[in-house]
Amino acid sequence: MNPTISSRAALILVDVQPDFMPGGALACHEGDTIVPGIDRLLGRRAFRHVAATQDWHPAGHVSFASSHAGRAPFERIPLYGHAQTLWPDHCVQDTAGAALHPGIDWSGVDTVIRKGDDPKVDSYSGFRENHGPHGTRPATGLHEWLRGRGVDEVYVCGLARDVCVLWTVQDAVELGYRTHVLWDLTRPVSPDTDLATRLRYEQLGVQVIEHGMPA
Ligand SMILES: [Zn+2]
Repeated sequence: MNPTISSRAALILVDVQPDFMPGGALACHEGDTIVPGIDRLLGRRAFRHVAATQDWHPAGHVSFASSHAGRAPFERIPLYGHAQTLWPDHCVQDTAGAALHPGIDWSGVDTVIRKGDDPKVDSYSGFRENHGPHGTRPATGLHEWLRGRGVDEVYVCGLARDVCVLWTVQDAVELGYRTHVLWDLTRPVSPDTDLATRLRYEQLGVQVIEHGMPA
């Protein structure tokens, strides 16, 4: 155990799945470059609590452009009173692209939280689904799991830094966790969002750790 990391701190790995990497259905810019660093971080067993999220959609999911006649990926449509970005079909349950990335030894992960399995609701955050038909954001179970272990601080990395990592961080802050982002272990869907994403993290008051873990 690294003495600089609190025993009440958890590592959250967001959506480290082949579909979000070059060659995948919804590739993040340089998404594959975070794989070796995450594998090394897990191998150090630096955190007492480790959770991973896995985007896990049924075929025909509401977030897929293919589910909306005449729509193309990356268009935005109104859905339940909010803007919903439409994506290429990705992370369809039980496909290779939806697997936890095979380049990582996942034995150091204590729980895997699957999200996005409601056909009618998207789920970016690891904590709560996006806006649904009844104005609620159902919990995924991650918050309850962390609370049950006495966790009050989280370190977040994975994909994508401008979407699912960002939403996870926003919820972590709102739920009261001391929150850190491991910037070099994240990558964006598109790098031209990086400045805005960085500012958003600063506005949220989270610590952005540029390279590696804090000394
Ligand atoms: Zn998704």
